[in-house]
Amino acid sequence: MTEMNPRERFLAALNLGEPDRVPACPWLTSDWFMGHYDLDSVTWYKSLDAQLEAQLEIYSKFPDMQFFPGFRASYGSTVEASAMGCEIVYPPNATPQARPVIQEIPRDLDKIKVGNPETDGRMPEALELYRALAKKLREHGFEITSGFLHGPMDVASEVRGMTNLLLDFYRTPEAVHHIMDVVTETCVAWARAQYEASGRTMLHILVSDDVSSLIGRDHWREFVEPYMMRLFHSMPEGVVGGIHNCTRSQQVIDLYPHVGARLLQFGPDVDPTFAKEKVGDQMCLLGNLAPTGVLKDGTPQEVEDACRQIIEKAAPGGGFILGSSGSVARFTPIENLEAMVRACEKYGTYSKTSPGTARPACRSARHGCTRGAAQVASGPGKAPG
Ligand SMILES: [Zn+2]
Repeated sequence: MTEMNPRERFLAALNLGEPDRVPACPWLTSDWFMGHYDLDSVTWYKSLDAQLEAQLEIYSKFPDMQFFPGFRASYGSTVEASAMGCEIVYPPNATPQARPVIQEIPRDLDKIKVGNPETDGRMPEALELYRALAKKLREHGFEITSGFLHGPMDVASEVRGMTNLLLDFYRTPEAVHHIMDVVTETCVAWARAQYEASGRTMLHILVSDDVSSLIGRDHWREFVEPYMMRLFHSMPEGVVGGIHNCTRSQQVIDLYPHVGARLLQFGPDVDPTFAKEKVGDQMCLLGNLAPTGVLKDGTPQEVEDACRQIIEKAAPGGGFILGSSGSVARFTPIENLEAMVRACEKYGTYSKTSPGTARPACRSARHGCTRGAAQVASGPGKAPG
C-alpha cells in the first residue's frame, strides 16, 4: 500500500484502523529531555526556547512522535492541584510536588474550589507557555497535537493526600464525592483551556488514572466512574479523550470505554492480549513497554525483540500504537528509541485484513457514548521537513 504520512498513520490507528505500519510513539517528557540535553529543571520549565528546540529536533528525527506525546508546553505535574489551593514545592531537578490542602474533614473541605485556568495557581503560566509554543510552532510548520491532564482521582490524591483519600472511601464517602466533584470541574476547565490555548489544534487529550490501580472495581464505579464520564463527555468537540494508566488496570479496564475514552495507554503489567480482548474493539491501545527495564537498560536488539512481541499481540485488527507505558526514563539511550522505530518498520503490520482502512469508530455507542462515535478527521500531513 502507499506509504502514509505520520498524521495519516497516527489518525488511522487512533480511529481503530490499520495504517501502513504501526506508529512508534515512546512517551518523551521533561525528565528525558532534561537528561538528553543536560538541562536543569529551572532552565527547562522556564525556557520556551529550550523546550521548542528540543522537541523540534527530536520530533523531526522521529516524526510519528509529533502526534504522541506531541508538541506540548512542559510545566511538570501539580498544575491542577495548584489551581485548587495546594501549596507547590519545587525539589531541585525534579518535577514540582503538591502539599495536600485538605488536612482535616470536614474542617478543610471549603478550602478547595474549582480552579479558574486564567487566574489560579500555575495554570496561567502554563497557558502562556501553550500560547507562545503554538505561535512559534506555526512558524516552523507544526502544531500542538496533544493535551494532557491529571485525572480526577489522581488530582484528588494530591488535594487530600493518598492515604487519607483511600481511608475516606470508608470514613466519609460524601466528602470524597465533594472533592471529586470540585476536582472534576477543574479538570473540565483545564482541558478546555489547554485546547483553546493550543489554537484548537489538539487531536487528543490524555487523562491520567494511575491512582485507580490502588482501588477495586466497586470503588472505581462509585467514586471515579461518574466523574470520568462527566470529564470525557465535556471534552472539546472532535477531540479524542484517552486514558493513561501505567500500572495495574485489569480490574477496571473494561469500564474505560463506557466513560467515553477512546485511547488507552496501558501498563506493562497488563498483557497486550488481555487488553486487546477486553477493549481492543472500542479503544486504540498504546503501549506497553516498561520505561525502566529493557527500554532503558537493554540493548537495541533486546528492545526490538520486546517491541516485536507486543506488536504480535496487540496489532492484529488495527487500533494499536507502539509506545512506552509511561514517561521514558532519564538517560534512556536514543539508540533504543531508534530500535522501536526499526521494530515497527520490520514487524509493524496489523493483519491480513485490508490495511489502511478505518473501522467504524466507537463501539461504546451501545453504552450510550455518542461522543465516541465521532472520528478524528485526517487533515493535510504535517510531516516535518
Ligand atoms: Zn502513569
